Amino acid sequence: MAHSGELERLAELFDAAPLAVLTGAGISTDSGIPDYRGAGTPPRTPMSIAQFMSDPAYRRRFWAGARVGSMRSSGVTPNAGHLALARFETAGLTNGVITQNVDNLHRRAGSRSVVELHGNGSVIRCTENDHRFTRDQVLGWFDRLNPGFAVRNAGAEIAPDGDALVSETDTVETPSCPECGSILRPDVVYFGELVPRPVFETAEALVAAAGGLLLIGTSLAVNTGIRLVHRAQLRGIPIAVINRGPTAIDARESVTVRIEGGAAETLEGLEGLLR
Ligand SMILES: [Zn+2]
Repeated sequence: MAHSGELERLAELFDAAPLAVLTGAGISTDSGIPDYRGAGTPPRTPMSIAQFMSDPAYRRRFWAGARVGSMRSSGVTPNAGHLALARFETAGLTNGVITQNVDNLHRRAGSRSVVELHGNGSVIRCTENDHRFTRDQVLGWFDRLNPGFAVRNAGAEIAPDGDALVSETDTVETPSCPECGSILRPDVVYFGELVPRPVFETAEALVAAAGGLLLIGTSLAVNTGIRLVHRAQLRGIPIAVINRGPTAIDARESVTVRIEGGAAETLEGLEGLLR
């Protein structure tokens, strides 16, 4: 739990409200989604989009893992941290949340101004014509193509990203776009892809309109996050950090408040001071 003096200094930052918020995996760990960059998680080579597009075996493994993983992630819900941020936005304390997460939990918590730097894993799009579907729709098509598969593999190990590590995928049939027949993919930024320019520009605009930048649950290992911190530094607005463990900007002078702690407990404590 954060020291009360630190929380008070964080609360003072809201005198310059609205603040822009940038969140990372650390805000979703309290919802049961592991932080694959966090301590104690084994390194896992991220699948690149080139592999996904060129190799049907990768796509079979991906959809099989997504289907089996979905059985255990269906109980994941927004936590107290997501809910507090949604209330901050309603109260005019923040102008939106920029997130590195693809878990859709900010929107489910009720945040309306959400910039998803790395996309949204609950959205599936086709690669030729941008036809869009929900993940649940596509997993339903998977079940029709592969009757009984999900139940047979229900015991598979779950990877840190929530997908299951299913071994028998040679005979898996992968769903394709029902409109045009092209390859379907999650609407997320994969390893080897860039954050789309309009998305980054929307995030920049939030930082440009904010009186401060609040970073929550991110070690800032991702370059896009650092670029947004630079924008805040150029404007000379205060930067606050709530995170378990070190971040890439801890030593910078522009970090005016640094709280070592969990997102949900800290935001709940903060909200008590802002009332
Ligand atoms: Zn299509």
